[in-house]
Amino acid sequence: MQERIWEEVDEIREYVVDARHFVHRNAEVGFNEHATTAFIKSELETAGIEMVPLAIETGVLGIIRGTAEWTGAGEPPTIGLRADIDALPIEEATGAPYASQNKGVMHACGHDGHTAILLAAAKVLQKNRKEFAGTVKLFFQPAEETLYGAAKMIDCGILENPPVDAVVALHGGVEIPIGSVAVYPGPFMASGDIFKVKMIGKGTHGAYPHRGSDALAAAAQAVISLQMILAREIEANERAVLSVCQIHGGNAFNVVPQEVEIAGTVRCFSPEIRSKIRDRLESICTHIAASYRCDAVCDYTFGIPPVVNDLEETELLAEAARDVLGPEKVIRLANPMMGSEDFAYFLQRVPRGTIFRLGVGGDTPISLHNPGFNFPDEALPVGVAVFVRYVLKKLGR
Ligand SMILES: [Zn+2]
Ligand SMILES: [Zn+2]
Repeated sequence: MQERIWEEVDEIREYVVDARHFVHRNAEVGFNEHATTAFIKSELETAGIEMVPLAIETGVLGIIRGTAEWTGAGEPPTIGLRADIDALPIEEATGAPYASQNKGVMHACGHDGHTAILLAAAKVLQKNRKEFAGTVKLFFQPAEETLYGAAKMIDCGILENPPVDAVVALHGGVEIPIGSVAVYPGPFMASGDIFKVKMIGKGTHGAYPHRGSDALAAAAQAVISLQMILAREIEANERAVLSVCQIHGGNAFNVVPQEVEIAGTVRCFSPEIRSKIRDRLESICTHIAASYRCDAVCDYTFGIPPVVNDLEETELLAEAARDVLGPEKVIRLANPMMGSEDFAYFLQRVPRGTIFRLGVGGDTPISLHNPGFNFPDEALPVGVAVFVRYVLKKLGR
């Protein structure tokens, strides 16, 4: 079957490259992916793939139904394969002949590659429907970069009718060489929370600070003291980050400002640590404010949950990858990542699932979100082969 898969992938080699270049040229930011959505729809239609209308303007749900007889227990499973389709508000500097024609917008995170890979995998699967049973749902998801797209698409009911038993996605990784993939079972990508703290004091003349109360000094103290939560209150083996990334206050060199606001993000992997950091952040800021004769208004938003890769599904995906790439090309990552990914919402609803890293790292890798990043065409067939092999492993006759 492995040779069969590569034969099939060889047939769409040119197609997958052309598809990526088209998507790259038509880069669009989250919830604005109109040309990209039209392209995906027309490609699926040409391939004869069923689509289900969604209550959002961008993004596509495609459905492929296997025609083989299911020999396993119960109903044949439904698998979801997800690709994010949005670009970033970055001015492109790749110099590629197919560079973005939309000024100030480019595919700097490689979602053009993800989209092309899923389109090509869909074509191969549609052509080989007799090789598997069950259902494959194709999730072309908008607005991953804003971290709102997955939840919006899930709200459209894409995980129902038939219910999805397992979900898989990939993301390019520049730390992984082209030709290889990397997996990580368990908590893989961090949750992403947002906090804002407003220190409210009493504004006064810079020459007479004792007549007011200094919100700026209270905020400065908070910026430093918040790090003590991680240093002194979270066990050293736990992974957590708290970063204050904004501070706003003051308009003149001789006025002690009345209000100063700080804002930042918290990244970690467990609900307990998340709650603890939230509680301690509020308590520390409130007490610092009091000690500076100020008030603190804390606003903590639980954002995206962590990505938790299912152990068994990750192993199955790794096996599929080993089948088509060889064991030496499948890397087990040593550490999780502190970044976030809205595929977390899929995994929250369908715990049997995994996201893996597809190697896109060349000799001198350029980081994701850099204006010079360009998803390497050579990595595309690798992603297609792994997706197809995974489906056949799970649903094949
Ligand atoms: Zn990104
Ligand atoms: Zn991305």
